Amino acid sequence: MNLRRPLRELSQEEWESWLAEQRQPAFRAKQIREWLFAKLALAAAEMTNLPPALRAALERDFAVCSVKPLETLADDEGTTKWLLGLGDGETIETVLIRAPDRLTLCISTQVGCPVRCAFCASGRHGLVRDLSAGEIVDQVVFAQRAAGRRLDNIVVMGMGEPLLNLDALLPALDVVCSPEGLGIGARHVTVSTSGIVPGIRRLAGAGRQWNLALSLHGVSDERRARFIPPAHRYPLAEILAACQEYRAATGRMVTLEYALVAGENDSSIDGERLARIARDLHAKVNLIPCNAADSGHRASAAGQVRAFHDILLAHGVQATLRRRKGSEIEAACGQLRARRAAPAKETDE
Ligand code: SF4
Repeated sequence: MNLRRPLRELSQEEWESWLAEQRQPAFRAKQIREWLFAKLALAAAEMTNLPPALRAALERDFAVCSVKPLETLADDEGTTKWLLGLGDGETIETVLIRAPDRLTLCISTQVGCPVRCAFCASGRHGLVRDLSAGEIVDQVVFAQRAAGRRLDNIVVMGMGEPLLNLDALLPALDVVCSPEGLGIGARHVTVSTSGIVPGIRRLAGAGRQWNLALSLHGVSDERRARFIPPAHRYPLAEILAACQEYRAATGRMVTLEYALVAGENDSSIDGERLARIARDLHAKVNLIPCNAADSGHRASAAGQVRAFHDILLAHGVQATLRRRKGSEIEAACGQLRARRAAPAKETDE
C-alpha cells in the first residue's frame, strides 16, 4: 500500500518548509511548480532540470501523480473513460467527453458515495472514503495530459457527492482554477449535488464563480424519496431556497438535472411542476435519459421525453435534451468500478 501525499496539494508554506529540509534553494519551488502545473509532469523522473537527489526525494516523500490508469475505454464519439487506481489500491472513474468545440472532463470526489441514489452504481455500496484535494486535482492533470490539450470544462459529477467532501474539493478547485495552478476559469467549472443544503450554502459563501447543478430528479419530496434514500435527503423547499442563495451570492445560473424515469417522474403534471420550479429559480433544465445501471428503473420512452421537453419549452424554460454519451462504455457513474470490484455480481448492465 502506498499512501504518499499528492504533491499538487501542498500549500506554499509546506513547499517552502520541505525544500528547506532538503537544503534546497527557494528557486527550486518555482521549477517544480512549473513541472507540476505547466508541463503536467506525472513522475519526478521527468523533471530533468532538478538534481537527481531532489527527484528521488520527491518520489520518496510524495505522489507526483496520485492516480494511475488501470483501464481505459473509448467509444466512437470520442468519450474516454478511465478507471484510475489510487495509492491505497482503491479505484475511481474519470470521463473525458469530446464535442467538436470543447473538451469536458467529469471528475470524482469520493470512492463510492454515501447518498446511494437508486439508479446510480457509484452509491450501490456506500462510501469507501473521501478523495484528498490532490487526488481530485490529479484527475484533471492526468486527463489534460492524455488529451494533449487544455480542457475547456470541468464537471464535478463523477463518483461521490461533491458537497459531502468540500474540505478537499474547495482547495482542489482553487488549484484547478488559479493562474498559478491549472488556470481553468471558474466559470468553466460546474459542481453537481444531489441537494446537500449545508454544502450549497458553504459553496455560496466561498465567493467563487463556479456553476451549480442540482440533481433534482423529482418535483416533490415524495417523488425524490423514490430515488434518494433519507440519510442525505433534504426537504425540497430547503434545497431550492439554498439554490436561490447560491444564485444571489454568485450571480451564476443554477442548472436542474432531471433524469427521466418511465412512470416515476415523467408525467405531464411532473413537467408542469418542474417548469414552475425552474422559472422561480431562473434555472435551466437538462433532461437526461435515465441510465438505470440495473436498478430496476427504466428510461422514459422517446415520445414521452419529447412531450416532457415540450412542456418545459412551452413555459419558456430553457431546457436541453442531453444525449446519453458513452453508454456503450459504461460511462454512467460507477459502472466500470462496480464491474471490476465485483465481476460475478455486476456484469449484467
Ligand atoms: S448520483 Fe451522485 S449523489 Fe447519487 S449516489 Fe450517485 S454519485 Fe452519489
